[in-house]
Amino acid sequence: MMTPLVRLCAKFGRHLSRPWSACQLGLRHRSSQSAAEMSAEPAAPGTMFPPLQTFSEEESMMKEAVKKFAQERIAPFVSKMDENSAMDADVIGALFEQGLMGIEISPDYGGTGSTFFSSILVIEELAKVDPSVAVLCDIQNTLINTLVSNLGTDEQKEKYLTRLSTDMVGSFCLSEAESGSDAFSLKTRAEKHKDYYIINGSKMWISNAEHAGVFLVMANVDPSAGYRGITCFIVDGNTEGLHIGRKENKLGLRASSTCPLTFDNLKVHEKNILGKIGHGYKYAIGMLNEGRIGIAAQMLGLAQGCFDHAIPYTRQRVQFGKRIFDFQGMQHQIAHVATQLEAARLLTYNAARLKEAGRPFIKEACMAKYFTAEVATLTTSKCIEWMGGVGFTKDYPIEKYYRDCKIGTIYEGTTNIQLSTMAKFIDQEYDH
Ligand SMILES: Cc1cc2nc3c(=O)[nH]c(=O)nc-3n(C[C@H](O)[C@H](O)[C@H](O)COP(=O)(O)OP(=O)(O)OC[C@H]3O[C@@H](n4cnc5c(N)ncnc54)[C@H](O)[C@@H]3O)c2cc1C
Repeated sequence: MMTPLVRLCAKFGRHLSRPWSACQLGLRHRSSQSAAEMSAEPAAPGTMFPPLQTFSEEESMMKEAVKKFAQERIAPFVSKMDENSAMDADVIGALFEQGLMGIEISPDYGGTGSTFFSSILVIEELAKVDPSVAVLCDIQNTLINTLVSNLGTDEQKEKYLTRLSTDMVGSFCLSEAESGSDAFSLKTRAEKHKDYYIINGSKMWISNAEHAGVFLVMANVDPSAGYRGITCFIVDGNTEGLHIGRKENKLGLRASSTCPLTFDNLKVHEKNILGKIGHGYKYAIGMLNEGRIGIAAQMLGLAQGCFDHAIPYTRQRVQFGKRIFDFQGMQHQIAHVATQLEAARLLTYNAARLKEAGRPFIKEACMAKYFTAEVATLTTSKCIEWMGGVGFTKDYPIEKYYRDCKIGTIYEGTTNIQLSTMAKFIDQEYDH
């Protein structure tokens, strides 16, 4: 039987037909590959310290296949999905079909059986084409699947991982109206009755809620214990008492649904507790630490995708008898942004490699998320300027990247929260 990875690479690993027409401008010619692409090759045997942008054969295949998949199966829908504020069901179906919603899930549960680093490359490639699709894939892989894989009982894994890898979207439900950055002051209550819990309360900003079949809900079983009462519940989408509110009308990332939820005497069996009672806060912190590398990959891909659209334009557009790319004032800005992009990529890949190597990575993950969001903001803003008036119109995708990037400074910990976490580590590093 073909695993999803083999299927993906067999289908998209070779040259495909015409890419998203609006995206054609943005595709770099093979001969002008960046160092990042050229080094996307297996490490030479015996290389002791390969460059950070060295990929395993599997990672290279996955990156290349997803790049082509995104051009063929996602790019044609991006503009419409943004306009309609709705993710196309075929796009979600295609992500499942290609094994991109269960990248690290074991093939025993229908997953792709690949690595965290592969997930990062996939998120980056998807974000080059559509950051909304990237975040769907990111949350599924870096938060939902990881939580269930790491903490689930055999029964929970059998029931949920098989669906999460093949046809069911999951949502991560931590934030509430009154608790955003201060997430663990959440008010949602879970009261024990015999062998089940009754959940009451509400959540805000829940990504992918419109399409989710399962919700990982953080609720407090013992408010007297403070955050030590927070527990993670697996809530099926069809549970009575779960209400999904109207999705937010957002500045960017419009195809990604973001909804409020209410729990009205929602009954959950105790066997649906994920992990240990009262450990929800630990799980949430742990997942968000990893998840931040995923958001960094999303911001990195977004910035690179935008840059890849804008540069060919500057090479074609003529003013004062010259390509606008040839003005030194333009070249210096372009080189500066390219350097920022390179630095963002190195921070992101390094954080991912540290995580995979089982080494401390929290400070580096915060740095990667913080920095890539800044770079995405700079890149998208500059790309609009470089394209002049047309960059400001919806005829080109640049303005969408500009709108989409703002979320990078907000979710999975705002920029201030990243900086505060980094500062804590820096402070500790100087303890004697
Ligand atoms: C599109 C979108 C999708 C989201 N998806 C999800 C999801 O799937 N699941 C989920 O649980 N949540 C989700 N969120 C919620 C997101 O994680 C929160 O919005 C975020 O944590 C910030 O919380 P807040 O909006 O309440 O802002 P606040 O916490 O009110 O922050 C407002 C400002 O105050 C600053 N601030 C707050 N505390 C401090 C401090 N201690 N020091 C310095 N500055 C501070 C912040 O940096 C920020 O600038 C999503 C949000 C959005 C917008």
